[in-house]
Amino acid sequence: MVKVFQALSSGSSILKKAGSSSPRLDAELILGFVLNWDRIKIMTEGESELSGAEYESFLRYIEDRAKGMPIAYITGHKEFMGLDFYIEPGVLIPRADTEVIAETVIRECKSIDGQVSIADVGCGSGAIGISIAHYVKYAFVTMMDISDSAVEISNKNADLNHVKERVKIIKGNLMEPVAKEEFDFVVSNPPYIRTDVIQSLQRDVRDFEPHIALDGGRDGLKYYRQITMSASTCIKAGGMLVYEIGFDQGKAVADIMLRAGFSNINVLKDLAGMDRCIIGKKIC
Ligand code: GLN
Repeated sequence: MVKVFQALSSGSSILKKAGSSSPRLDAELILGFVLNWDRIKIMTEGESELSGAEYESFLRYIEDRAKGMPIAYITGHKEFMGLDFYIEPGVLIPRADTEVIAETVIRECKSIDGQVSIADVGCGSGAIGISIAHYVKYAFVTMMDISDSAVEISNKNADLNHVKERVKIIKGNLMEPVAKEEFDFVVSNPPYIRTDVIQSLQRDVRDFEPHIALDGGRDGLKYYRQITMSASTCIKAGGMLVYEIGFDQGKAVADIMLRAGFSNINVLKDLAGMDRCIIGKKIC
């Protein structure tokens, strides 16, 4: 019989050899997932024994991780804005740095009286739109994505986080499904990596996350141009356009927004102090 502490040490040594930067933590998270235990229990009940089936399944997931599969695709979950999101390989894993986008919209919503309408364009797992709906009880969020998996997973996440009655999830290309509607806010974390950079991304991202959610075209700005164009007619006077951006895209995206008539443009930083969010107002 293998004990918890032995499984952790063999799991983390496999991951260490495979080049993981956090082998012990990864092994703890994977074992916690297999046993359905939280991390504290994993760390404090080292003498407990695993069944043969549990140990086999642990080793199988350790092999997946050793090949670069992100933990969130193994466990099927990722925390974002203090909420639990169901995740699978068809959608990008929510990043901690993306919380600044959700927080910015939530903060701006507080300055509006009454109901607020928000469009989340290219919603992926639904992390941004659903956390806004969770924290702003008078927000109505329309979320859209061209990917069937994204629509399906966003629906699951809206259920999981009990906001189903205030979100609408539509399959469609960018803002086409809502071309005739008007919103107080349009928010998006579009694909923004330059096509020629995709191959040099970290293996876990490059080999496992959906390129459709990452590839922003030749200069990485393709979707900012398209969404900004639609947003300029779909945002109410006084409303705002909020994007996640790459660390070096602030100036280029600000120019796109200025040309489309947005003003009061501000670039905000992420946890690492890099430019990550841009916000602009539609005055009239
Ligand atoms: N920030 C993501 C990454 O680092 C990219 C997200 C995007 O293209 N929208 O992989």
